Amino acid sequence: MRPNILDPLFVSITSLAGVGPKVAELIKKIVPADISDREARAGDLIFTLPHSVIDRRNRPGIALAPSGAIVTLEVRIDRHQPPPRGNKSVPYRVYAFDDTGEIALTFFHANTGWLEKAMPVGEDVVVSGRMEWFNGRPSMVHPDHIARVGDTESLPLVEPVYPLTAGLSGKVLRRAIGQALERVPALPEWLNPDVMRRQSFPAFGEALGRIHNPADPIDVLPDSAAWRRLAYDEFLAGQISLALVRATVRRLSGRPLAGDGRLIAALRNALPYKLTQSQTQALAEIDADLQKPERMLRLLQGDVGSGKTVVALLAMARAVEAGGQAALMAPTEILARQHFATIAPLVEKMGLRVAVLTGREKGRERVEILAGLESGAINIVVGTHALFQETVQFRDLALVVVDEQHRFGVHQRLAITAKGDAPDMLVMTATPIPRTLVLSAFGDMDVSRLTEKPAGRQPIRTVTLPLERLDELVGRMRDAVADGQKVYWICPLVEESEEIKLMSAEDRFASLKPVFGDAAGLVHGRMKGAEKDEAMRAFKEGETRILIATTVIEVGVDVPDATIIVIEHAERFGLAQLHQLRGRVGRGAKASTCVLLYKDPLGETAKRRLSVMRETEDGFRISEEDLKLRGEGELLGTRQSGTPGFQVARIETHADLLEIARDDARLLLTRDPDLKSARGQAIRMLLYLFGRDEAVRLLRAG
Ligand code: ADP
Ligand code: MG
Repeated sequence: MRPNILDPLFVSITSLAGVGPKVAELIKKIVPADISDREARAGDLIFTLPHSVIDRRNRPGIALAPSGAIVTLEVRIDRHQPPPRGNKSVPYRVYAFDDTGEIALTFFHANTGWLEKAMPVGEDVVVSGRMEWFNGRPSMVHPDHIARVGDTESLPLVEPVYPLTAGLSGKVLRRAIGQALERVPALPEWLNPDVMRRQSFPAFGEALGRIHNPADPIDVLPDSAAWRRLAYDEFLAGQISLALVRATVRRLSGRPLAGDGRLIAALRNALPYKLTQSQTQALAEIDADLQKPERMLRLLQGDVGSGKTVVALLAMARAVEAGGQAALMAPTEILARQHFATIAPLVEKMGLRVAVLTGREKGRERVEILAGLESGAINIVVGTHALFQETVQFRDLALVVVDEQHRFGVHQRLAITAKGDAPDMLVMTATPIPRTLVLSAFGDMDVSRLTEKPAGRQPIRTVTLPLERLDELVGRMRDAVADGQKVYWICPLVEESEEIKLMSAEDRFASLKPVFGDAAGLVHGRMKGAEKDEAMRAFKEGETRILIATTVIEVGVDVPDATIIVIEHAERFGLAQLHQLRGRVGRGAKASTCVLLYKDPLGETAKRRLSVMRETEDGFRISEEDLKLRGEGELLGTRQSGTPGFQVARIETHADLLEIARDDARLLLTRDPDLKSARGQAIRMLLYLFGRDEAVRLLRAG
């Protein structure tokens, strides 16, 4: 159970003054946590950190305040000058002075009553805002802040600036955050005192205070001690939660999976190619794990096209040889069916039964598959998250392979694990995550890497082209198709609300159809499952030769003889996504091309992204550039959430803390595996604060 002391942070933000349902919806958009499935809470606001400040410390006096500068002035109110009756175009002016001169505080469409109350004649007030000089006369139009001298608490001299969204005012947000901060209870310290001292970390509450009420602009930089403290907290919570999951998974002790090797040998013979060195190596590592009595928890990391699927297949064959069943879980329907199409013919030849199970199998078919899994008649099943619904029972699930792991959360991982008697687990990711991120996302999983691509692959030529040259490109694609090549044409997703008019896949299909006729196919996310399959099949088998698609084909789709990919509005895609998309070509022996079609003018970051794509095909380099660019993007931009899965921590700034947090977590759990000590109890609060409380439930389950 969540400690009661944290309750004030778990209330809906609508309980804060000034936050109604409408404002709450807006705030929901900017809090850094992923809360698509719940309302925003006060606790989300405290981690909504400012990206910059407005420095109001400059107090030069009226006469010396430069035009355009943000200044704070202490003035005495001299007189009010309302606009003449009926003339709304003249502003309301309040004249005030200090030792150096006089200033007009100017208000359009003023609320007279409020102005009179805020600035009574003869009173001393502090105002802060932007100076304007006009014909030698100083003025301040709509000061940002007005406060009575002696009551300036509400006037921040270093004012934090938060990410905003249309319709949400900074004032409303600051007020809400201020109230959320007041609800932060006094909490016991969960950090190790040595770490605190070495890193000069302030206490949790103090760290929040320093960032939200900065005394100096450097307080809001991600590398300030205060921010680093919060990042460390978040890393520590993440590492502890991962370690607890891992410990639970391991505690269910596994069993050795060994077979006579005949099935595997037969499969290897049936493959039309030889395994690469990397594949052989990864398989040996997996095999060694499978044969151990402990459970396997291994990450198979390999760049797009490096051939992870066949490794998974051979691992599953091992599980079957040992008398168990194996499941391969993919993030999308298309991908599940593709895996099924690759695997089924190979293993059926060996006399095994394979099934595919997604949300689409219904009625009798579904009943039969479920029965086959329960009786053990089906040896291997490929599917989507439909695999971990409650109705799915296995006779003896021995190995679970999860493809493209980054799309599945920890609890889903646990759910599928619960389907078997401590099944071994192989997680595959095509995202070439840098080491630091592997650590943060997966904890200390064992890792196998596919570092080489199958022999005979040729480099992909990548070119960029402005949208104006579309006609020329279409002409060239027509020639390529006539020449027997296969082309993917990717269009970005179009959201309803988007202002910029983009070509949707459907529009593009309509415009290319006259050129390509029956050779043009279309696939997008809103199509029915069967239609999608049909479109993919037709393209794979060459009935269509240019496939206009949304990013549904981003991960994993494998059509080895496709040699050209056109990515429209490439400037709108992130680097990782571009890399994934490009990886759809270059999978066979023929040379491939990637055309990045962009719309001018390009922003700095987009320009850089496209040139990185031109420069390299190395997934690791690309992901590192990606992190860097996202870091910069954030300094410039408004978007708050940095590293995926984290609220305040940013890999590019805080990577050094991650390793410390990992060691810290390990040591803590060795000494106090049930989090029962005083520090352990405090750590439980930390887990709740950062939404890692799934792990606390594991503790109770024992
Ligand atoms: P990914 O790692 O991106 O999932 P896939 O498993 O889809 O890659 O493999 C990409 C392509 O390479 C597939 O067409 C597959 O048949 C082929 N392939 C896999 N291993 C080899 C190999 N050792 N030699 C040649 N081709 C291979
Ligand atoms: Mg794959």
